[in-house]
Amino acid sequence: MSGIIPETLLRPEVLALSSYHVANADGLIKLDAMENPYAWPDVMVGPWLARMREAEINRYPDPEGFDLKSAIRASEAVPVEVDLLLGNGSDELIQIVLMAVAKPGAVVLAPAPTFVMYRQIAQSLGIECHGVPLREKDFSLDLDAMLEAVRRLRPAVVFIAYPNNPTGNLFDRQAIEAIVDEAPGLVVLDEAYAPYARDSFMAWVSSRKNLLVMRTLSKLGLAGIRVGYLAGQPRWIEQFDKLRLPYNINVLTQVTAEFALRQRWFLDEQVNRILADRAALHEQLSQVTGVRAFPTQANFILFRVEGMDADQVFDGLKAKGVLIKNLNGAGGPLRQCLRVTVGTEYENGRFVATLNEVLNSGPPPCWP
Ligand SMILES: *Cc1c(COP(=O)(O)O)cnc(C)c1O
Repeated sequence: MSGIIPETLLRPEVLALSSYHVANADGLIKLDAMENPYAWPDVMVGPWLARMREAEINRYPDPEGFDLKSAIRASEAVPVEVDLLLGNGSDELIQIVLMAVAKPGAVVLAPAPTFVMYRQIAQSLGIECHGVPLREKDFSLDLDAMLEAVRRLRPAVVFIAYPNNPTGNLFDRQAIEAIVDEAPGLVVLDEAYAPYARDSFMAWVSSRKNLLVMRTLSKLGLAGIRVGYLAGQPRWIEQFDKLRLPYNINVLTQVTAEFALRQRWFLDEQVNRILADRAALHEQLSQVTGVRAFPTQANFILFRVEGMDADQVFDGLKAKGVLIKNLNGAGGPLRQCLRVTVGTEYENGRFVATLNEVLNSGPPPCWP
């Protein structure tokens, strides 16, 4: 059939989407994506390659990921009566949960600003996504507004990132408990930054029938292999499992993730170093004139600049070899805001020095 074009064939939701933009980081100090900056120590690489050599890549992977799930349970304090669903990154789990609830009229709720994939995936499925603004002064949860929206919209799913991305803060725990109690549908607590935070809802999953906790190994240090997991009561997990494509976690990923979690000490050492460097970076950033660094419980810091346009600060850093994330385009409470991932001590030092250069070399102030 000639003359066929996407605009006439595809769903309007698809045509309306834009693809997830990833900046090119070639040759730059990469502090834009919340990656752990450290490679594996040599003592781990040898034994890991020995395990990889045994992996049977001519065979399909274990469809259930049984050994990897056991390793997750052993390393992450998942309650015994809670089931796990593995995803190719937690992005895939967001998609599975949303596919499961995508009835006509279904609504998703989340604080705003938050992780963009909740909205992106909801839109792709024709689900309406409502954002409830965080308080402008400190990005805290507006509990009254959240509860009001929950009662009015009766969302099928409420997504709450704990700590939140891109703001980095941990919301008030009691506020989240109140939302879980009030919600007529599911509440997904996205604990992507759990390794860097001092709190978790994992222990609660067994006692709250509408609560799911989602985690990922990406921010811990395994972003390249794509593993996320969803912890929930068996009645939910068994339904979601029907939507998971068979063999979604490949053989090399299963072997690598299991190996890493069984030898967690080296990842924990890296996390501890990042936590110490986070404190130092926050301190240094706070001392830069014209910068306000927000508190963080994640491996990144949100900061606001004044006296120079944030787009110019971002471009200036990039031109001098440092890539961070520009959030200015999102507007609202994120105007003039940028987000930097905690890197190595060297990278953090380069970032702060370069930021100082950029802020001091900007266009001279404009006199009327
Ligand atoms: C990075 C991130 C994710 C996605 O993690 P993947 O497992 O790499 O897909 C999910 N939620 C939040 C809040 C994130 O910041």
